[in-house]
Amino acid sequence: MYHRVADLDVDPWELAVTEEHFESQLRHLAVEWNPTPLRSIALERPLLTRGRPKVAVTFDDGYVDNLERAVPILERYEIPATIFITTDTIDRPGEFWWDRLEHIFLATADLPPHLPDEAAALLGDNPVVGSADLAAVQAGPSWRAWEPYQHPRHGLYRRLWQALFDCAGEERTRVIDTLSVWAGHRPEGRGSHRTLDRAQLVELAAHPLVDCQAHSTDHSPLPTLTAADQLTALRDSRARLEALIGGDIYGFAYPHGAISPATLRLAAEAGYTYCCTTHTGPVHRSTPDHAIPRCGVGDWAAPEFEAQLCRWWGGEG
Ligand SMILES: [Zn+2]
Repeated sequence: MYHRVADLDVDPWELAVTEEHFESQLRHLAVEWNPTPLRSIALERPLLTRGRPKVAVTFDDGYVDNLERAVPILERYEIPATIFITTDTIDRPGEFWWDRLEHIFLATADLPPHLPDEAAALLGDNPVVGSADLAAVQAGPSWRAWEPYQHPRHGLYRRLWQALFDCAGEERTRVIDTLSVWAGHRPEGRGSHRTLDRAQLVELAAHPLVDCQAHSTDHSPLPTLTAADQLTALRDSRARLEALIGGDIYGFAYPHGAISPATLRLAAEAGYTYCCTTHTGPVHRSTPDHAIPRCGVGDWAAPEFEAQLCRWWGGEG
């Protein structure tokens, strides 16, 4: 499971792999493994062919670097990839909400002294913000969102991330829009964090190595919604993507990997043939079609990537 092929200064969720590492990772897959379309692994399940384990490459979200940087490397090694697309940013250009939040709190030195009321209400208090030394915020080994805070800005970022994760899609958009204006940011966002526009999505979806499947409209974690709203979200995601690229959409990746037993049942009811989680592990013959695990690939050089693949495969790789 990948998200981005990019070189970022700040990457709190470890979403980006550099081009150099992505290339060496794919070279290893091409030589030692059996790269296969995800659909074949999810639905057919013979997992070994000619002694080499099948592996599928996936990307989530729909960053423009998937088209501009990942595709040329996929072509070089003739490796297929499934790309799960969040459609709201296709319809409304700008960064994903988690990137906008990172831009505000981890990459903007001067902010007003207090949060805007909407954000303070979401947190239940109004901590001091103001200016920060970005060298200190971004210092040392890049801070990851699951690590202890090294700077007050990390704490603010993480608390607001959780509050936005937990609230409904429209409120999340309203609060992040307010925060962006408060921080003095432009709605179109940074060039380094561009998402696909419609023409780019159509180009990506038409590529013979690429299969575009669904990843929701607004990236809301499904278990935070009522059952009726989950079903609507699952159906809307497929309908919107079908309207954008045509064809038959049958696969889904759960936003943030968030699932509940009801979510799995509703995904089947919504008509998806398979769905992917972010749980780590290989696919077995008995793996449920609507809970296909994946392994998140970090920005690793080839030796670490190889060691991780073998660990994930259970020592048989
Ligand atoms: Zn996602």
